[in-house]
Amino acid sequence: MREELNVEELFASKVFTLGKMKERLPKSTYKEVKKIMDQGGELSLATADVVASAMKDWAIENGATHYTHWFQPLTGITAEKHDAFVTHPDEDGRMIMEFSGKELIKGEPDASSFPSGGLRATFEARGYTTWDITSPAFIKETATGPTLCIPTAFCSYKGEALDKKTPLLRSMEALSKQAIRIVRLFGNTEATKVLPSVGAEQEYFLVDSAKALQREDIIFAGRTLFGAPAPKGQEMDDHYFGVIRERIGGFMHDVNIELWKLGVTSKTQHNEAAPAQHEVAPIYESANVAVDHNQLVMETLKRVAGKHGLRCMLHEKPFAGVNGSGKHNNWSITTDNGVNLLEPGQTPNENIQFLLVLACIMKAVDTHADLLRQSASNVGNDHRLGGYEAPPAIISIFLGEQLEDVVAQLVETGKADNLKEGGVLRTGVSTLPDFVKDATDRNRTSPFAFTGNKFEFRMVGSEDSIGSPNTTLNAIVAEAFCEAADRLEGAEDFDMAVHDLIKEYMTEHQRIIFNGNGYAREWEEEAARRGLPNIPSMVAAVDTLTTPKAIHLFEKFGIFTEAELRSRAEVLYETYAKTINIEALTMVDMANKQIIPAVMKYSKSLADAVIAITEAGGDTYVPTRMLQQITQKLTEMEKASEALLEVEKKASAMERGKEQAFCYHDEVMVAMNALRKPADELEKLVDKKYWPFPTYADLLFEV
Ligand code: ADP
Ligand code: MG
Repeated sequence: MREELNVEELFASKVFTLGKMKERLPKSTYKEVKKIMDQGGELSLATADVVASAMKDWAIENGATHYTHWFQPLTGITAEKHDAFVTHPDEDGRMIMEFSGKELIKGEPDASSFPSGGLRATFEARGYTTWDITSPAFIKETATGPTLCIPTAFCSYKGEALDKKTPLLRSMEALSKQAIRIVRLFGNTEATKVLPSVGAEQEYFLVDSAKALQREDIIFAGRTLFGAPAPKGQEMDDHYFGVIRERIGGFMHDVNIELWKLGVTSKTQHNEAAPAQHEVAPIYESANVAVDHNQLVMETLKRVAGKHGLRCMLHEKPFAGVNGSGKHNNWSITTDNGVNLLEPGQTPNENIQFLLVLACIMKAVDTHADLLRQSASNVGNDHRLGGYEAPPAIISIFLGEQLEDVVAQLVETGKADNLKEGGVLRTGVSTLPDFVKDATDRNRTSPFAFTGNKFEFRMVGSEDSIGSPNTTLNAIVAEAFCEAADRLEGAEDFDMAVHDLIKEYMTEHQRIIFNGNGYAREWEEEAARRGLPNIPSMVAAVDTLTTPKAIHLFEKFGIFTEAELRSRAEVLYETYAKTINIEALTMVDMANKQIIPAVMKYSKSLADAVIAITEAGGDTYVPTRMLQQITQKLTEMEKASEALLEVEKKASAMERGKEQAFCYHDEVMVAMNALRKPADELEKLVDKKYWPFPTYADLLFEV
């Protein structure tokens, strides 16, 4: 029997919440902290000392001996360096655990081993981590013991961002500033800031860890590099939302407990489309907390899986021919007095604001479709986007039938008098419509879909940080808001001006709306006719970061400098090259040391059979035929393995950068596929006893 759970008590028990601060800090200190959280600014060292001391006491009560500045370098995962609270013993040999304000607000890890894309020469190895006061500190319980984690931003000595957090925070400020201008136009004088809210649905695979550990590809690359399809796939649709098996259920139960303790509102869990695939989703929250929490979700999934003898695979495409994993990034923007700008609203006035916001988002997404696509690219997602299982690599917006129709009417006549379903509109004082929430079915194939009061960006990869997608979204929408506000703030006849602006933006950017089937081949052709970008790969998307348009956008709103953008581009090329290099070498290793020897053993048993049957005067047709087939594939495989090694050598000898990354993409990946093909065919021919590692059937159906 499980112990009874008190979720209310459990929830956020390992988080130094606002409530705990209120309880433990002197009133004036608490007030100062709260003010900075709400309005920005810097903590004085004196205040920081008081906060640090209270935080330390709480952490020690919870068994912590160490603290860490927890940050998100460009590796896509999180980093931490633990320091104990211990200090020099006094003359009596007693040690008092300490944690100063300075240690709380600033850390100085040696940054030389983190990717910086040339921003920081090794002689300037210093990097700084600074406390992100808007994301609460928490205690992580791992085998190293409970550790106090302080969410931080990570910058170089000169203040250049070396992480995913800093630009996100900058983009949130930019968005808030511009969105406030928009709501002011509509008479909202109360709101002081506007925050993006994010809810990230996380997909993942679970496989038996003992089996996974028999495969080098899973260990080194996080995905399978060989593997013939199992006789059964997902064609029966019997896994999606299916009954959760006992072993998986036990895992999910523990994941929820761990996440709740960390203040992550894990809410929804279910089986996904592919066998062994599942999903977990928390309730939405402020974007920067959501980014942190998504990292914690990924870490927790992996850690708890280990305890259950399972391995959690977060890779976007762990198994060829089986649905991959993504992360739906649900995004909306809300004022601090509770108005969601993506809520269509009840009155004509709210409606106009909504339509203006919608027009701005259409403009933003159309103008920067390339950047948005880039923000969702990583090495693994290349196997997924455009693969007819996930959104295509073409960005478009799904609005639903009703809203699409409103846009079409506005574009055509400047008015929208009709509601497609749900009868005639109440036409108010304005020429713009009042309408209700769309009831139409959701389009699962759209990369960017309006779903009632939020947009769902569905392109993001399952293993990726959601930092970049949200930074990009915030930035591009801030720009559109800014341009709209520039025009409307001075308008003599506001009603007329806003009406014209909505019509103009919607007309100019109507091409970005697509409600049809995003997986269809015809859409690619149609999108090309509309002039929408179709960027095929991660490496091809990198250039979008350094176009004059992108540099202008990010510099204008103080989100990235040109140098930071160029450094990020370098890091992406490097990451791509390194990842494919590991995959290529792993393949060669598995081919030469495992598959080829195993197949040779099997060939020998076939040859022995031929001899034995001949001696007995029997018919050798079957073993002879099989031996021929296998020998042919084995030769093919041996050649392909050599060819792959050759091209890998060439690529790895190249200078780091764009050209090298493209060589990995255009040549090494191609050679990898050429090696995989005969190997997978052999898997289908060779006696299972001889196959050197667990197959897709073993991994996907025996969890
Ligand atoms: P789905 O049908 O896609 O599963 P859900 O309604 O279950 O949609 O929501 C999925 C995610 O979207 C959850 O994380 C949820 O908290 C989040 N979400 C819901 N409303 C909003 C909103 N206004 N802004 C941002 N995220 C939201
Ligand atoms: Mg969803």
